[in-house]
Amino acid sequence: MKLKKGVKLFLCVVAVIGILAGCTIVFNWYRIDIKLAGDKEVVSEFGEEYVDEGAKVRKVAVLFPLFGREYEYKIDNGVDVNNIGKYEYKYYADFNGKHYEAVRNVEIKDTVGPVITLVSDPDGYTLPNHSYEEEGFSAIDKHDGDVTDKVVRTDNGDNIVYQVTDSFGNSTEVVRTVVFDDRNAPVITFDDYNFVQLGTSFANEYKAIDDADGDVTDKVQVEGTVDVNTAGEYTLKYSVSDAYGNKAEMERVVKVFDYDPDKVIFMTFDDGPGPYTDRLLDILAKYNIKVTFFVTHVYSNYEDCIKREYEEGHAIGVHSYTHNYATVYQSPEAYWDDFNKMNDVIERQTGHRVKIFRFPGGSSNTVSFNYCDGIMSTLAAQSKSKGLTYFDWNVESGDAGRTTDPDEVVENLKNGVYWHSVSVALSHDSLEYTVDGIEEFFKWALENGYTFMTLDENSPTAHHGIAN
Ligand code: ZN
Repeated sequence: MKLKKGVKLFLCVVAVIGILAGCTIVFNWYRIDIKLAGDKEVVSEFGEEYVDEGAKVRKVAVLFPLFGREYEYKIDNGVDVNNIGKYEYKYYADFNGKHYEAVRNVEIKDTVGPVITLVSDPDGYTLPNHSYEEEGFSAIDKHDGDVTDKVVRTDNGDNIVYQVTDSFGNSTEVVRTVVFDDRNAPVITFDDYNFVQLGTSFANEYKAIDDADGDVTDKVQVEGTVDVNTAGEYTLKYSVSDAYGNKAEMERVVKVFDYDPDKVIFMTFDDGPGPYTDRLLDILAKYNIKVTFFVTHVYSNYEDCIKREYEEGHAIGVHSYTHNYATVYQSPEAYWDDFNKMNDVIERQTGHRVKIFRFPGGSSNTVSFNYCDGIMSTLAAQSKSKGLTYFDWNVESGDAGRTTDPDEVVENLKNGVYWHSVSVALSHDSLEYTVDGIEEFFKWALENGYTFMTLDENSPTAHHGIAN
């Protein structure tokens, strides 16, 4: 059959159009292809940045999906790393009115235990035979925060184990190794007083304490001796080692000095005994100094200090039972009544009555004018006939009015004794600041060759002129 030429042409055109249309459909039928890289289900750590592995998003022809092109996409990051839970991380694209997406399931979990931090001194060590002294630690969990108070600490002697578990059951354990070492030598100590009067005694007292071994005094070796009967300088060498071989050495020069008749001090303390007398007696014992106490009964609770004064070799004299001027200077009878009451106390404490005394206010006092004319002259004469000796003073510490400063008390005494060959020095053991300063004076006096003596009936009386 023969078709007309026109028809043929028409059919050709239709065929070409059909082919073109078919091709157009085939090559333009697209979809969006989203492929996740990695797993669809993932777990990520609480508190740490979540980094998705990504996805491949392409626009592909439906019939020829091998041929595709990258296509623009969007991300919906629904992951909250700061909250435990399950989240979706989405890649999506919209194309030709259609929505395409791929979802990854992300679970935020806490799988890591707290971090334990130990405080430690890089040079630190623990003494042998001592337990480790905790320097400190902390435990911080990303989720729970500070869990230091939940740390379980186990002391095993040579190591310490710190263990802690967070609220999701994640545990951490840290071990501290204890370093035992002894790097310090013992410390040798002795009195800093190194002056001994000729013919007296020297107590070689010292102590050695080691930080690891404790008291090692009995291991101290002493080289040298002090001959208290020969004036001169003596060197004593002390040495001691601890169990770890740390050695300590100390040297001390002790000076034995002769009595100098131009440097004599009769130190006297009035108005006590009182609250500070025991402390004064300790100081006197330390320096082996003997003094004279003119005692009262003003601080009656301290009466038994008189016994200690006596037993430790100090001289005791009457000052006054009441130390009340109005009472004692009322009349000679009143004075001797008060005097005898005081001597009764002294006898009670020492077993002896005394024959030396000091008038309240001294023999030159003018306060007695207020109560009885001429009483001091009368009392002075009566005391002589009674076989009693009274003492005044030629050096003042100034503690009864001029100063309340311990340093000034010391200065006054130094200046006073400096200008006297024989000093009868007045001070008061009833005053705290005097006792505070007095050790300084004793040290100075001994270092400068002074000798302390106690008063008796034959001592210099240092009398003042009687005014009343
Ligand atoms: Zn007095």
